Amino acid sequence: MTSVVVIGGGPGGNQAASRAASLGARVTLVERDVVGGAAHLWDCIPSKAMIATAGALSFSRRMGGLGFSPVASPSYVDYEALRHRIKEITSRLQGSVEELLASQGVRVIRGEGRLLSPQTVAVSLPDNPEEELSADAVVIGTGSRPRVPDWANPDGIRVLTTREAYPPPDLPEHLVVVGSGVTGVEFVHMFSSLGSKVTLIVSRQHVLPHKDAEVAAALEDELLRRGVQLFKGARAVSVDQAGGGVVVNCDDGRVARGSHVLLAVGSVPNSEHLGLEQAGVKVDKWGYVTVNQHCQTNLPHIYAIGDVSGKLPLSSVAAMQGRKVAEHIMGLHTREHRHIDYDKAASAVFTEPEIADVGLAEAEAFASGRKIRVTKVPFGASARALINDDPRGFVKIISDPATGVVLGGCVVGSQASELISVVALAVTAGLKVADLVESCLVHPSLAEAIAEAAD
Ligand SMILES: Cc1cc2nc3c(=O)[nH]c(=O)nc-3n(C[C@H](O)[C@H](O)[C@H](O)COP(=O)(O)OP(=O)(O)OC[C@H]3O[C@@H](n4cnc5c(N)ncnc54)[C@H](O)[C@@H]3O)c2cc1C
Repeated sequence: MTSVVVIGGGPGGNQAASRAASLGARVTLVERDVVGGAAHLWDCIPSKAMIATAGALSFSRRMGGLGFSPVASPSYVDYEALRHRIKEITSRLQGSVEELLASQGVRVIRGEGRLLSPQTVAVSLPDNPEEELSADAVVIGTGSRPRVPDWANPDGIRVLTTREAYPPPDLPEHLVVVGSGVTGVEFVHMFSSLGSKVTLIVSRQHVLPHKDAEVAAALEDELLRRGVQLFKGARAVSVDQAGGGVVVNCDDGRVARGSHVLLAVGSVPNSEHLGLEQAGVKVDKWGYVTVNQHCQTNLPHIYAIGDVSGKLPLSSVAAMQGRKVAEHIMGLHTREHRHIDYDKAASAVFTEPEIADVGLAEAEAFASGRKIRVTKVPFGASARALINDDPRGFVKIISDPATGVVLGGCVVGSQASELISVVALAVTAGLKVADLVESCLVHPSLAEAIAEAAD
């Protein structure tokens, strides 16, 4: 029987363990903290739970448009109740993952794993002697943690990383957010909806530097409308605490003052103390474990998945890598196995409006000289968006002008993170614009805009 040891129980690790067990492997999962990983404890789940509350509050302020009059929106969020709610969601999810793993016969060990040799994993247990596990295959899914710039010293009170920001003991009166990537803008949306004054330090000329410029502009308009102050083209270089608040100094001389500062400047891989060097596993200069298209390291029976593998840092990608790796270990790749195509991974920014995209972007096609057809419809023309009183945003579809094959697309607007699934399916399955246009969809629905945009 093939024995598999998985180190790290995040979305990558637990999917690898579950799939390997379902394919007949003897699987041990080593997790030092919580099965579900950082994704459940600090990242995806708590942030989206906070955003659900923030979104409801923001919606209540717009309810006048739906005929409620006069509208008294709630003015107080019970942070204790919110903390409890987040904990409950996390433990329910954790419980269901643990139940599934147990039903599949996966042994879960609470402890810290490291490679002793290419075939042996040592597990340090809190109250027991170290345990050694031998393995035919090892999967490293140890994730990442927030990057802390050398000029900042997070204290979890006024200077926060993303792991200390929700829910705060009290709502920050004025939050300075450093970093305008996906995580940074989600926190801006979260706290500005909850009622904090927010200043965002944007090191480039627009927020979301890796997204379509039109998409970024739509979000900036909304942030400005809410009164978020944008420091564009400024890099934070130091943060001081003074007079019960924070002072963030930028390289161009501008100074942002607030009650709290949140650092959202990327992440670093958890690849230290794993015995990688000792076992001969290569890491790159940033500490990410180097992998091939099957997520194999330079030692073919040792795999790395999720954030530690340095590919797209998304839960969904980690989970997909986990499943694929299990299939590779169990020999399924010889059949209908497809490599993970990171270019076809859908992603979303949970702001207001929501932003989601998949596949080829317009700027990317332009840079490579590839001919594309771009079609776009605004939600202002959608019956459902008007009924919902939220006609913000648009759908854009990118296709091959010669074949009609859908290459990519983006959705900006209410429920974009759900709607993009239709475009993602089209991109993954190689569908044509005609397939989207000829799908007879529900009316009135937001998805109709996708079919119209494809036409
Ligand atoms: C604020 C924020 C919000 C996010 N929101 C989203 C989102 O909405 N959607 C999305 O797709 N992605 C989101 N992400 C990204 C997502 O959280 C990560 O991509 C995902 O968690 C990566 O999964 P993973 O399996 O690699 O590792 P993780 O979830 O980081 O889990 C790794 C696990 O390994 C364990 N571990 C580490 N070292 C050891 C060791 N030596 N021994 C035993 N256990 C060990 C850790 O305790 C941890 O439980 C967000 C990120 C952040 C920062």
